[in-house]
Amino acid sequence: MIHPFPVEGRWYKGNLHMHTTASDGRLELADAIEFYKTRGYDFVAVTDHRKTTPVEEFTTDTFLAMHGIELNCWDPNGYEYHIVGVGVRPFEQDPEIRTGQGLIDQVLAHDGVAFIAHPYWLGLERQAIEHLTGAIGIEVYNSGCMECGKALSDVHWDDLLHHGYDTWGLATDDTHHYSYDGAVGWVMVRARELTQESIKEALRAGHFYATQGPEIRDLRVEDGWIHVETSDVARIVFVSNRGRGKSVWAKPGETLNKASMKHWSDGYCRIEAIDAQGRKAWSQPIRF
Ligand SMILES: [Zn+2]
Ligand SMILES: [Zn+2]
Repeated sequence: MIHPFPVEGRWYKGNLHMHTTASDGRLELADAIEFYKTRGYDFVAVTDHRKTTPVEEFTTDTFLAMHGIELNCWDPNGYEYHIVGVGVRPFEQDPEIRTGQGLIDQVLAHDGVAFIAHPYWLGLERQAIEHLTGAIGIEVYNSGCMECGKALSDVHWDDLLHHGYDTWGLATDDTHHYSYDGAVGWVMVRARELTQESIKEALRAGHFYATQGPEIRDLRVEDGWIHVETSDVARIVFVSNRGRGKSVWAKPGETLNKASMKHWSDGYCRIEAIDAQGRKAWSQPIRF
């Protein structure tokens, strides 16, 4: 799997999952977009439920508003799926579609990038995901799901990766209230320019990482070692199959900003950087 750091371009900060009063969000569209603009975001995707909200008028030279949608269904096996599509051509959910794969396919048919929302919140274990194709990843972190204590789907992600299902991790707000769920989890995308096509291309390629604040500044594999550089954090974790990973801690009261680990001939490794407040950044997985 490719990591974003040697890729030409610059970093753009974005929220890929948010709701407005057009569905069940608390803010009108213009206020919802302003919320993110004033907090230093470069782009958002507005993902109201089952129907695309028009956003063209909010894109400027320095800010990108992308069309999005959140589709949902219960499939015949008793699983509920929420699939987010970003960068879509405007459409409405087809009510006849009753499978997770069908929802993903509807996003792809409208030129969007699809990902699987909040698997922990939905109870989507590996068996419910590993047959799906065409989605770029899962939400490893969803701020809105803090409300019921299920924001973090890292175990779901590792279970998929451990069993060979390679998929990216995203952090999003899934903003409804614009309070505890606002500007808490986002993606940093390495793209050539701030256009919908360029952001979508980078998302598909895995040229991004997920974060609540810490930065991942470099990640490279050289001569059998994984090297990572970050902003100042309290701990850097290499997460891999079973118990092969390791944590590198800063000394009490200090911080660290790099770590290295010898890698193996098989399996995967992904990096978490955790600051003193417990906020995390998640790299994409590397496959050996
Ligand atoms: Zn949802
Ligand atoms: Zn949502």
